[in-house]
Amino acid sequence: MKKIAVIGTGYVGLVTGACLAELGNTTICIDTDADKIEALQSGIVPFFEPGLQELVARNQRSDRISFTVDAAEAISKSEIIFIAVGTPMGEDGHADLQYVRSAARTIATSLNTGSRAIVVNKSTVPVETGDLVSAIIRESLTDGCSVSVVSNPEFLREGNAIADFMSPDRIVLGVYDDESAAVMRELYAPLVAPIIVTDVRTAEMIKYTANAFLATKISFINEIARVCEKVGADVKDVVLGAGTDKRIGTAFMNPGLGFGGSCFPKDVTALASIAQKYGVTPTVLEAVLQVNLEQVQLCAERLEGALETLEGRRIALLGLAFKPNTDDVRESPAIKLVQALLDRGAQVHAHDPEAIATARQMLGDSITYHSNVYESLKDADAMVVATDWNEYKQLDLDLAARVLRGNVLFDTRNIYDPRVVLEQGFHYLSVGRVAYGATAPVGQLVYEIKK
Ligand code: NAD
Repeated sequence: MKKIAVIGTGYVGLVTGACLAELGNTTICIDTDADKIEALQSGIVPFFEPGLQELVARNQRSDRISFTVDAAEAISKSEIIFIAVGTPMGEDGHADLQYVRSAARTIATSLNTGSRAIVVNKSTVPVETGDLVSAIIRESLTDGCSVSVVSNPEFLREGNAIADFMSPDRIVLGVYDDESAAVMRELYAPLVAPIIVTDVRTAEMIKYTANAFLATKISFINEIARVCEKVGADVKDVVLGAGTDKRIGTAFMNPGLGFGGSCFPKDVTALASIAQKYGVTPTVLEAVLQVNLEQVQLCAERLEGALETLEGRRIALLGLAFKPNTDDVRESPAIKLVQALLDRGAQVHAHDPEAIATARQMLGDSITYHSNVYESLKDADAMVVATDWNEYKQLDLDLAARVLRGNVLFDTRNIYDPRVVLEQGFHYLSVGRVAYGATAPVGQLVYEIKK
């Protein structure tokens, strides 16, 4: 059992703190946001992540997890200190490390004289950040203290975070010394997963490489979908046919609105910046970002084509979160689509099972929010599925067709069976699926019954 402090109680920090507590450790979670800490102290998780509320409550009852704004007190009691603060995109594309620097300074000034601690960087950070954190801590470290920095990038996915933390594909540890590696191996021993131990810079590079590759798959398949539309092929079958090759795989090969969220856009941009800094031209990464940038605009244009104009049109938008099972709207393609529709004069009526409050912080009163999905559809000229929540897959399409004013259904996530929606009388648009026997003009894709 270890005494652990986690700095930052966002998606990564809170999941890390709660899961390590569940494994029998004592964790103190720290945040500078006093409202967040107050909510957590009274058992409320201030964001939506399936199962997290219950996990936190259970460990709170067993006194294995606690929450504080008093970083110095928490750090002074801990053997392992995780940094899990945000690393947003800086103005020039580089990761903004101000929160990491601040956490490192707090650690240095909070350790008791003579103590030994391991500082674990879980935030996604550019190569050399381990060196930077070590240098900052060394600068202000109290006499007799010893600190070793470890890079332990996190690969969890929002919406599945607990399962991903508890059953990871691998655990990556970038270390400066064998002793820290041994302590970290012991900490993660209850998890059944391969542990990959590397130097710190390699571990930092692994995280960026993983995210950049996944983003590349998404932009790649979006580009393929564009070609499929033109040549009259069905991208879903193309993915199945190509992706069943073990060397390729079907994961992250779903065309749609492009990638978003708090990680991929900033991490691909940051990796491109690192490459440039070291004199490497990031040709592939720049193309990945470019395809992604275009995708939402292309979808807005497609909808405009189907409705002739978006000026004054009422659009029901299903989904605001950047993906299902989260309330996170950071860099959400659905939010970008809302903005593109508003720019073209549309009125947007949106629904999301979890992300209305977070979307409202971003979009204010520029759109109308509905807690009932059918209310959002009422009298709309078109319905657009922007996030593939299960709730939308199970939608009563017959009722939807009756409450809508128009009949355009833009399924940007390809969640419906075209044969079913066509039978409901919809004018169906999807991404990368062909217009078999299309009756619509070129460029306005209608999938009609294939067999
Ligand atoms: P987040 O924005 O949800 O949470 C960060 C938290 O840190 C906030 O609550 C903030 O108040 C707090 N904070 C900032 N500075 C602090 C300080 N000096 N002391 C105490 N608290 C401080 O961020 P997140 O989504 O959890 O991401 C954290 C890091 O993990 C990022 O680098 C991100 O790229 C990476 N990551 C995120 C995910 C994900 O799915 N969200 C997955 C893997 C890795």
